[in-house]
Amino acid sequence: MSEPLPGSTDNAWTTDDAVTRRFVSELLNDPFGDPGVFVDFAFSRRAVLFDLGDLSALSARKLLRISDVFVSHMHVDHFIGFDRLLRHLIGREKTVCLCGPPGFTDAVRHKLEAYTWNLTARYQARLNLVVNELVTPLRLRTTQFRLQSAFQPEDRGELYVEDGIVLSEPDLWVRAEMIDHGTPCLAFALEERERINIWRNEVEALGLGVGPWLNALKEAMRGGAPDDTPIQIRWRTNGEISERVLPLGQLARKVTRTQPGEKIAYVVDARHTVENIARIVELAKDADTLFIEAAFLDEAASLAAERNHLTAGQAGSIARLADAKRMVPFHFSPRHMDDADRLHEQALAAFAGK
Ligand SMILES: [Zn+2]
Repeated sequence: MSEPLPGSTDNAWTTDDAVTRRFVSELLNDPFGDPGVFVDFAFSRRAVLFDLGDLSALSARKLLRISDVFVSHMHVDHFIGFDRLLRHLIGREKTVCLCGPPGFTDAVRHKLEAYTWNLTARYQARLNLVVNELVTPLRLRTTQFRLQSAFQPEDRGELYVEDGIVLSEPDLWVRAEMIDHGTPCLAFALEERERINIWRNEVEALGLGVGPWLNALKEAMRGGAPDDTPIQIRWRTNGEISERVLPLGQLARKVTRTQPGEKIAYVVDARHTVENIARIVELAKDADTLFIEAAFLDEAASLAAERNHLTAGQAGSIARLADAKRMVPFHFSPRHMDDADRLHEQALAAFAGK
């Protein structure tokens, strides 16, 4: 296994031919605790968080890596951790984006209004909370809350949402799907775009050296540029700069290998309805890991329906329909505290098609 190249930053020039996992995801709590998944990004000091329940398991260091938070809905077990996150952010120079369902902006505003902010002008570090509310599946409203302004809401307008994309970056995106839990609840999928790996030995075999031109090559490939597009190659050996120009197609075939990006889906609090199943299956299609609530045992299906939750078997079947590679059942009801094994077994049996 080769080392990432010096100076490599987020996803840049990764030469590893082995599958390097970009997303390191973990449940915040045990399956009976408040739901939440922390996704750490390899190669960068960044993480994203799904749901804001009990965050006491997260160290200050991890909390401060969080760039984006995705909140399914504002039931207390999914939102009570907002205060802990806020507490750690005060005094930090940071922007954190929070995305949630209808009513989310007001919920955040009310949380912020519960505190006294008369000393905020003294803080040097600028803390910005950018709150994105999926008002409808097609409209994303943005409001900014800045510590310096005592967290008075500042309207930043609305965007039209295409395919549920609530976050889009050059190498990843996040999709949200509105599902029915008696109240609108968001399910999320974090997806990495197709990954282009560079083979360093093949670069050297062509008599070239590595450098930022590899990023330009990747960009051209991602943009679907034609094979004869000239790529300016510039690299440095012992302080001396060399330059060459080669066509994109030749370079791509020789020095790159593409692999599908990773995908992580997060699904909680869903009523077992035809519409919900279809939406979740579409959202979680081919996910590498699907975190899915499995609140009740199958024999408690009527209770699950009454409470707008899935049973373990229903969760497993949905994961199977979505062709998820791995399923992590969680968000178990405390009434089954002594039946954790059976909840797992029922979910896994349905996932395996048994
Ligand atoms: Zn819940």
